[in-house]
Amino acid sequence: MNEQTDSEALATQAARGGWAADFVTRPSAPPLYQTTAFDLDDLGQLDDVVSGKSQGYIYTRDGNPNQEAFASDVARLEGAEAGVACSSGMGALTATLMALLKSGDHLVAARVLYGRTGQLLNHLQNSFGVRVTFVDANRPDEFAAAVTPETKLAIVESVSNPLLEVADLPAIAAAVGSVPLLVDSTFATPCLLRPIDHGATLVWHSASKYLNGHGDVMLGVIVGPSASIRRIKGLSSLYGVNSNPYECWMASRGLRTLPLRIERVSASAQTLAEFLASQPQVGRVYYPGLPTHATRQQAERLLTRGCGGMLSFELNGGRPAVDAFFRELAETIPFSPTLADARTTLSYPAGTSHKFMTAAERAACGISDGLVRLSVGLEDAGDLRRELSAGLACL
Ligand SMILES: *Cc1c(COP(=O)(O)O)cnc(C)c1O
Repeated sequence: MNEQTDSEALATQAARGGWAADFVTRPSAPPLYQTTAFDLDDLGQLDDVVSGKSQGYIYTRDGNPNQEAFASDVARLEGAEAGVACSSGMGALTATLMALLKSGDHLVAARVLYGRTGQLLNHLQNSFGVRVTFVDANRPDEFAAAVTPETKLAIVESVSNPLLEVADLPAIAAAVGSVPLLVDSTFATPCLLRPIDHGATLVWHSASKYLNGHGDVMLGVIVGPSASIRRIKGLSSLYGVNSNPYECWMASRGLRTLPLRIERVSASAQTLAEFLASQPQVGRVYYPGLPTHATRQQAERLLTRGCGGMLSFELNGGRPAVDAFFRELAETIPFSPTLADARTTLSYPAGTSHKFMTAAERAACGISDGLVRLSVGLEDAGDLRRELSAGLACL
């Protein structure tokens, strides 16, 4: 704490201000450490903090208490040893790929992935000489067949975007053997599924989605074995895809209600999926809680606590019907190209998350021009059903 004296000039007093008096009572909510760096007493203290002999922080790009609080909370929820938070989901993926791969290495990935994930893997392949084999996530034998001595990583989504296919993680983990399995578990969250319990090595989240859960943060997190996380954290700082204290502080707050939110959205989504499946304007409904879903058997084994808040459905009228439906619902269930907000939102995979694919690639992934994705929020399920019904009635 800086002692100010009357002899200091106003400029000196102003520049060194901002401190509360020392106090012994602890804050009852976690403080925000919105600081670029941490002051050091002397060079000995620097050595002790760098070597890990003393607990401390130096520069926020390398580490910050809010980053550590959030990442270690997610690690605990996922049953992992350690975690690191990055600038966004894509930032966490970038740090991970840079830490685990080099030119000439090979990776195996599911063909159906979040659009930007597939785009990043193609970029690594085209610009950095990393070889990528895309396989059918529902065919563990294809993962096994793709593995070579150069294979350093396998990537899959536990619940896929946007068709909600549940990956058979134990079979895929067995198929890739000693190759680390990285699972994007953004849609499932640790409340529904803990991939590490089923053989995954690393679990990755866009914390911009459910972990924060209020649609006001960009953040990513990756958890797994301490040695890998230490390396990923180093690369995250080197490439500058580190998280910022405020985002981590916000997301830590979001985590406190995660189980309650996931329970609520799972129950509402199940009700709405059943309702939509009975509507004449609607073609296929994709929700793992429906008996007709392609991966219902995996869902029964792996998603034992509910199937989550995401569902997709086809409007029979294709793109024009989607446009009319979105316009009708703009005031109640907005078209917003994100998911897992507290409020319910609609999205259009062919025009947002998967617009970087060719029409043929989209068709191969089952993403048609009439496909709409619904991210069910915390509203009353009866209100949502009534609003969706009004939207369908105008088609
Ligand atoms: C949003 C999302 C990402 C990317 O995360 P950002 O935080 O937007 O960078 C990755 N995977 C899935 C499944 C997502 O929904």
